[in-house]
Amino acid sequence: MKAAIECKPGAKVLILGPCSAESETQMRQAAVQISEMRPDFIRAGLWKPRTRPGHFEGMGERALPWMQQIQREFGLKICTEVANARHVETVLKAGFDAVWIGARTSVNPFYVSEIAEALTGVDIPVMVKNPINPDVHLWQGAIERVLGAGIERVAAIHRGFSFYGNAVYRNVPRWQIPIELKRRLPNLQMIADISHIGGRPEYLLEIAQIAYDLNFDGLMAELHPDPTQARSDADQQVTPAYFRDHILSHLVERRAFSEDGEFNALVEKIRDRIDQVDSDILRLISNRMELAEQIGRVKKKFGVSIFQPPRWEQIVQRLLDDGRELVLSEEFIFSLIEAIHIESIQRQSKQMNVPGEGE
Ligand code: PEP
Ligand code: MN
Repeated sequence: MKAAIECKPGAKVLILGPCSAESETQMRQAAVQISEMRPDFIRAGLWKPRTRPGHFEGMGERALPWMQQIQREFGLKICTEVANARHVETVLKAGFDAVWIGARTSVNPFYVSEIAEALTGVDIPVMVKNPINPDVHLWQGAIERVLGAGIERVAAIHRGFSFYGNAVYRNVPRWQIPIELKRRLPNLQMIADISHIGGRPEYLLEIAQIAYDLNFDGLMAELHPDPTQARSDADQQVTPAYFRDHILSHLVERRAFSEDGEFNALVEKIRDRIDQVDSDILRLISNRMELAEQIGRVKKKFGVSIFQPPRWEQIVQRLLDDGRELVLSEEFIFSLIEAIHIESIQRQSKQMNVPGEGE
């Protein structure tokens, strides 16, 4: 795998532009305002995969000359989303500099294979957004399908994961998933699509800073000359000036390592304690599972089922209250007890299904 997007050492990749290409004027204004930030790519969607029908589905091929004009006039590279082989052929013919595979496409191996095949023999960056569901294997699989077609310049875009319910951001970031993908594919460039994660302008800075702090290689952000008039994703788009003044200029870049002796001594001391606490947590969880097995045997003896909804509700409420006092977020507490509960049910179920005992 080659570096998908070449940029100066230490610099971050920037992919900026509207959610959708809507008109020649809108794209031109966007390019005029964005060009001074010298992004690596101008983005705009031509074919918009909308979750539900009846919404603006993009300008399609009508937008090609607007994008080409930006490329010629401003010397900026252009990229867009491709969702099938026809899109690939169209944008390659039009001279696009890069493409990305969207979250509703990377979820489907058939589409990814079709796109990868259409890209065979082409040497442009291909960026693969995470699938909408938090499945690192599926994301890795999509990337491998693209690599398998001989495309060497592949990058990943983290845009968060869909969920049902209320949360602060539009998509849950689950940062451990891109981190895990990067562990599996260490040369993969990782870009954070802060707009689709956040869903609102006020969250963009904090998300971008987290991405920087996790050593992401760059950012994708949706910028529109007049977000109030945007025909898709209006709530999350910001003007190029807002992005420059309220996000980009506030981001703190930190180094991945330091040679400083004092720093390393301090960190090592804290890391020892962290390792100790992690081991304690595992030991406690193991105790917790032994208790689950005990209760499983008792339930079996008395012919009682494993799951009692009122008890589960009580556990959740009690731990959420405790968590609040300990300043642990609800989202964290919930995923932690859910993981423990699933394992506990499995352990109880094994006990219940041991033949002979307690019958
Ligand atoms: C987009 O980038 O405009 C888009 C549709 O993104 P995603 O595939 O992440 O939803
Ligand atoms: Mn969008």
